[in-house]
Amino acid sequence: MKAVTWCGKKSVQVDNVDDPKILNPRDAILKVTSTCICGSDLHLYDGYVPSMQRGDILGHEFMGEVVETGSAVTNLKKGDRVVVPFNIACGGCFYCRRGQTSACDNSNQNAWMVEKMYGFSPAAMFGYSHMFGGYAGGQAEYVRVPFADVGPMKVPEGMTDDQVIFLTDIFPTGYMAVDNCDLKGGETVAVWGCGPVGQFAIRSAFLLGAESVIAIDDVPGRLEMARQAGATTIDMSDQYVFEKILSLTSGRGADACIDCVGLEAHGMTLDAIVDKVKAATYLATDRPHALRQAINCCRKMGTVSVPGVYAGFLDKFPFGSAFGKGLTFKMGQTHVHRYLPKLLAHIQEGRIDPTFVITHRMSLSEAVKGYQMFSESKSEVIKVVLKP
Ligand SMILES: [Zn+2]
Ligand SMILES: [Zn+2]
Repeated sequence: MKAVTWCGKKSVQVDNVDDPKILNPRDAILKVTSTCICGSDLHLYDGYVPSMQRGDILGHEFMGEVVETGSAVTNLKKGDRVVVPFNIACGGCFYCRRGQTSACDNSNQNAWMVEKMYGFSPAAMFGYSHMFGGYAGGQAEYVRVPFADVGPMKVPEGMTDDQVIFLTDIFPTGYMAVDNCDLKGGETVAVWGCGPVGQFAIRSAFLLGAESVIAIDDVPGRLEMARQAGATTIDMSDQYVFEKILSLTSGRGADACIDCVGLEAHGMTLDAIVDKVKAATYLATDRPHALRQAINCCRKMGTVSVPGVYAGFLDKFPFGSAFGKGLTFKMGQTHVHRYLPKLLAHIQEGRIDPTFVITHRMSLSEAVKGYQMFSESKSEVIKVVLKP
């Protein structure tokens, strides 16, 4: 089959590789019908994530048609169309039983690698390095889905791939970021970073009862997309972000502040973090500019929610401000499995049309160009969908 493989820094290829096989009774094999390039794939592309090996198949956002199931998979049959969460979860461990599937204890077969850094390992992910499980991704014609009796959700008839593909990651990720803010209705939510996750956070904030949303970014196209959803926008490079937010909130500050930027925008490398952990130093690793601003702009007793990825130590983290204002912090990888039915219903009932985020479409064989384009002009590209 054809698959997008990692070949080293700034190098991917569309290669011919062996078809995946059922390895365990709970596996299924999908014929992929749509897959996306994610912002976090660029960290692999840029060589920032350790434990990648030449030939690793990329892609954690994909959907497709079931072509084969293992003996223990009774909920799926050949021909079912399914969408698959980016994180892999067993469904039965301490965390999975609580719906906290991104913390699954059983899916990362290389957990020891992450345990060295964090003490514990989160769930494995498709196509995202050996330290996060070493599972082949879905930027391919076929993919093996472990724990297929737990992850994949059947797509109702009549719904297109474009409508449901973002349930794999960015829609639930934006939604959980807002859900974590525990809105009661009528709040002002401020969102830093208007990439794909930020765009879904903005729309989810309205779905969950926010009265107004303030979107902060420095890319004109992204701010325009935020305005189309009804957000008031502020240019992140504006030195008066704090003052502007106060003027929009009667001087009180935003009720909830969401950091969809994370360390990612600053190109901080995970391997550097590993090195620093090894050296047992306590130097800063991540550059939390957006997070600092989010903390400053949050009203007293408000919530700061962080879907943006952080990996190491934070320098000049305004913990005094956070304590003084009595802030609540929520963060972490998305429990995609938990949100699928609810978000599917939002799409089916017309409360959101996720296709707004698609800016580019290509065939899988053009993936090399897709990665180059995304990497060189992030501003123009919000979401790339690939069709095998
Ligand atoms: Zn993603
Ligand atoms: Zn589990």
